[in-house]
Amino acid sequence: MSGSLPLFSEQLKEAARFLREGNDFLVVSHVSPDGDAISSTLALGEILTQLGKRYTLINESGNPAKFAFLAGDRVILNDAEEPEVSFSQVVTVDCADYARLGRVRDRIAEETPLLNIDHHPTNDAFGTVALLRPDAAATAEVLYALIEELGLTWNRDLATFIYTGLLTDTGGFRYSNTTSGVMKIASKLLDEGVPANTLAERLLERLTFTQVRLLQRGLSTLALSPDGKIAWVSITHSDIEELGATSDDLDNLVSYPRNIEGVELGILFKETKPGIFKVSLRSNGEVNVAQLAQAFGGGGHVRASGCSIPGTLDEVVARVLEEAGKAWA
Ligand code: AMP
Repeated sequence: MSGSLPLFSEQLKEAARFLREGNDFLVVSHVSPDGDAISSTLALGEILTQLGKRYTLINESGNPAKFAFLAGDRVILNDAEEPEVSFSQVVTVDCADYARLGRVRDRIAEETPLLNIDHHPTNDAFGTVALLRPDAAATAEVLYALIEELGLTWNRDLATFIYTGLLTDTGGFRYSNTTSGVMKIASKLLDEGVPANTLAERLLERLTFTQVRLLQRGLSTLALSPDGKIAWVSITHSDIEELGATSDDLDNLVSYPRNIEGVELGILFKETKPGIFKVSLRSNGEVNVAQLAQAFGGGGHVRASGCSIPGTLDEVVARVLEEAGKAWA
């Protein structure tokens, strides 16, 4: 995160002012949105509704089927929809850098005021106003503080959105970002009637048949480095096409190499477009995978990061393993 940001309390005031003073917002999250991105987008919609503002919710690919039940009748556009939608301010949620907005960037004029709300340590503080907290478990945790700052009223939906961001970005309250602060917030949100069991079941447990087939395919590629510290799996574009899957169907695949006894670094190579590999990196603590991803123009967190690399599978695997090897050098 870039050098000298104002105190978080000052950032909160600035962000609250930005929302109160604007009238018509475009709320954008990152490409291939995850639970925190979608629930933060929906939470922003609820915040702006309470503030009496107009807004449009969007990300490059829209709302993945998995999160449709969360949105109810709220619409998250994909970039092909409603090309003429007008707005005078932008809010980005969960985007570590401007490129993460994907094609939605083409809708945004350079001079448009932009509020950047995020928790990634690699966030470069793009935009006009930044609300950044690298020690927050999820962007939803940052939004919790913003909702309190704005003095808004909690309701079941708003609480559910914030809880969902916490739930998914902490891997079901298991990762090292599960702080006492996260649990205190979750506890307050449960008091607002969050359906915790339904959320855990639908977002963490349930798999489609296609997802299990993809898991089967991915696990058949499992490989281990000679020292046993790096394990990886891969999925090719033709696997995805053949099984009628989408890249969202691969969410949990990387946890298998990461969870192997003795493995420090788990990697998933998925060919999202022919010749382009999205690389998901997961560390058990020894390796800073945010740095590793940044070496390939990506980013993320110390223990979970990602990047995209062009090449054949063999080339991409070789490049990542060579760079990863330096982490132990
Ligand atoms: P993923 O492997 O897609 O689950 O991503 C793990 C973490 O890294 C998430 O916090 C992502 O937001 C972040 N991340 C993934 N890909 C990129 C990228 N190309 N640039 C910046 N951050 C990324």
